[in-house]
Amino acid sequence: MGVALFTLGGTISMAGHTQGAEAVVRLNGADLAAAVPGLTRLGMPLDIHDIEAVPSANLTFAHILALVDSASQAVKAGACGVVVTQGTDTLEETAFLIDLVWPHTEPFVLTGAMRNPTLAGPDGPANLLAAARTAASPASHGLGALVVFNDEIHAARWVRKTHSTSTATFASPNAGPIGHVIEGRARVLMAPARHRVPYPRPEALGKTRVALHTVTFDEDAEIVAAIAEECHGLIIAGFGVGHVPGKLADLLGTLAERMPVVLTSRTGGGSVLRHTYGAIGSEADLQRRGLINGGLLDPYKARILLRLLLAGGADREAVIAAFADHG
Ligand code: ASP
Repeated sequence: MGVALFTLGGTISMAGHTQGAEAVVRLNGADLAAAVPGLTRLGMPLDIHDIEAVPSANLTFAHILALVDSASQAVKAGACGVVVTQGTDTLEETAFLIDLVWPHTEPFVLTGAMRNPTLAGPDGPANLLAAARTAASPASHGLGALVVFNDEIHAARWVRKTHSTSTATFASPNAGPIGHVIEGRARVLMAPARHRVPYPRPEALGKTRVALHTVTFDEDAEIVAAIAEECHGLIIAGFGVGHVPGKLADLLGTLAERMPVVLTSRTGGGSVLRHTYGAIGSEADLQRRGLINGGLLDPYKARILLRLLLAGGADREAVIAAFADHG
């Protein structure tokens, strides 16, 4: 019984640039583990799998679902938990995708770094150690996918990357961290509610287009119409509690007749409301026109959920039910 470590690249593994070129020297799992004082005192072996060494901007649903399959096999073979190192840029999305499909009680912990190993005070080793300790802890069982960073434990459902450079970039604005790593021990304070989604067929995922559009001041309806043209689903990140300019309301209502259109907030925290404002383009008006309320789900996570649902063949009722559960 040990912890299975999968590496996917990102800043945590960037050892510098080769001279005059764009290529980046990347460390593998053995290099990462060797740089962590205390990892040998984990009390269990690390079983290392080097999967990819890419910037996380290049990761796809297919990569992550293949990773889930490999991690599943490791758990079936006896691993007590999984750790994945990856770039932080898309980590809030990959963590949620994993959480939606992860079928095991063993924890799936994601981490990374904001300062690469060539800089003073790199955070990768501390994050990797905290992640491994969390993955090895029985306290983490049943919590699904977790993001462990800066000695905080965040639920995949709530975590956001909130700063472009800070080592404290990961936060859960609506919920706070669900635990902390204190003196090397994972202390879990609360358990997030989880709702799993059926695992989609990979071919269906490739054919399922879901766009996310952030509404901006004096929005141009034609741009929104063009974006929606080839889509099977659309996430709208509206103003505040879920508002758009009145001139967009008819268009969004028409789009909602042919595909799920989910209303979220672009603010980064808080919920879309349901029945507080009634003007054209308000949350109540847009729901009357058929938009689905995304609740507390942020736009990026809403897009992950909708694409997974549509690729899995969910009909409108199933999409509404899933957003009621997750929102
Ligand atoms: N650009 C990097 C990535 O996401 C940033 C990081 O790893 O923190 O791959």
